[in-house]
Amino acid sequence: MSVPAIPRDLLPADGRFGCGPSRIRPAQVDALAALGTTVLGTSHRQPPVRHLVARARAGLATLLGAPEGYEVVLGNGGSTTFWDVATFGLVRERAQLAVCGEFGSKFAAAVAAAPFLAEPQVVDAAPGTRALPVAAPGVDAYGWAHNETSTGVLTPVRRPEGADADALCLVDGTSAAGGVAVDLAESDVYYFAPQKALGSDGGLWFAVLSPAALSRVEELAGRWAPASLSLAAALASSRKDETVNTPAIATLVLLVEQVEWLLDQGGLAWAAERTAASSSVLYDWAEQRSWATPFVTEADARSPVVGTIDLDDAIDAAAVAAALRANGVVDVEPYRKLGRNQLRVGMFPSTPPEDVEALTACVDFVVDALG
Ligand SMILES: *Cc1c(COP(=O)(O)O)cnc(C)c1O
Repeated sequence: MSVPAIPRDLLPADGRFGCGPSRIRPAQVDALAALGTTVLGTSHRQPPVRHLVARARAGLATLLGAPEGYEVVLGNGGSTTFWDVATFGLVRERAQLAVCGEFGSKFAAAVAAAPFLAEPQVVDAAPGTRALPVAAPGVDAYGWAHNETSTGVLTPVRRPEGADADALCLVDGTSAAGGVAVDLAESDVYYFAPQKALGSDGGLWFAVLSPAALSRVEELAGRWAPASLSLAAALASSRKDETVNTPAIATLVLLVEQVEWLLDQGGLAWAAERTAASSSVLYDWAEQRSWATPFVTEADARSPVVGTIDLDDAIDAAAVAAALRANGVVDVEPYRKLGRNQLRVGMFPSTPPEDVEALTACVDFVVDALG
């Protein structure tokens, strides 16, 4: 069967709708090229790169509204590495993990596998619904994802009521940070990688630590950890605007450009409004089609940045995604392990609502053409 050619006037200005790596704005790439002979290819221990790290730390603290006393720490390896960093450096003995998808379950698996920790409590919820942390005595760290990228479920960043006084809240903000409003006073560690809502490239992790989290780092600094996973070492390097080992400098440049752009546009409030507008376009469109349904049934739990739309069994979502891809509209395939007849759409702040509108017109066209 031939692939339907989508008329040009229906196509979005930019066809990238992935959930990470996500769309990078051309202005970011221009900024990278402009530093091609002065910052790229120079020492990360010298002022040009350290200045970049300082701008990233300060910009993120401002963008995310870090309360007084919170510190931005960074290191190499992305959010997956941070799960191991947290397992060694933040969980004292017993954690509770709220799991409603792949990413939440990976952190739970990392903690469960640590021989020096007690068996974690796991609060499980079916894909497409929320899992909320529940206060329990003896739990010293609660973990959950602000936005579960595999299913498109948003869970509030709120401390469980009645938790032990020194329990930490470790929130995976990987696909939310920069695109969803957050009150960091409700979290002790808000961690993320820059290739999702922040529209940079991968390879780094960032974490905003509360004073309580900083004391926990100090308390656990004596516990053996591989040097590359030591949060105490990452904190010491970050305070000098450095990383323990060589960072991805290009990723830092793209990130700083995006954070400062977001601040210029109006900060997190602007970004949250924009992703809310984009996602309303998508969810309203799906609700108006007899053959499309938002996967997340509770409207409140629907993510403003990762939209998951189930298609009727009579329509092959994989064929729709493939036809879109052939027309330059890419990465709307569902999360591979979820295994649903679904489209998943990244709607991070770099994507204007008009492009989401255009995407829906493209899906209409392709479904009609394939039918
Ligand atoms: C993508 C993602 C991760 C993994 O990030 P990496 O940088 O690839 O390790 C973790 N958590 C969430 C919620 C994600 O969306």
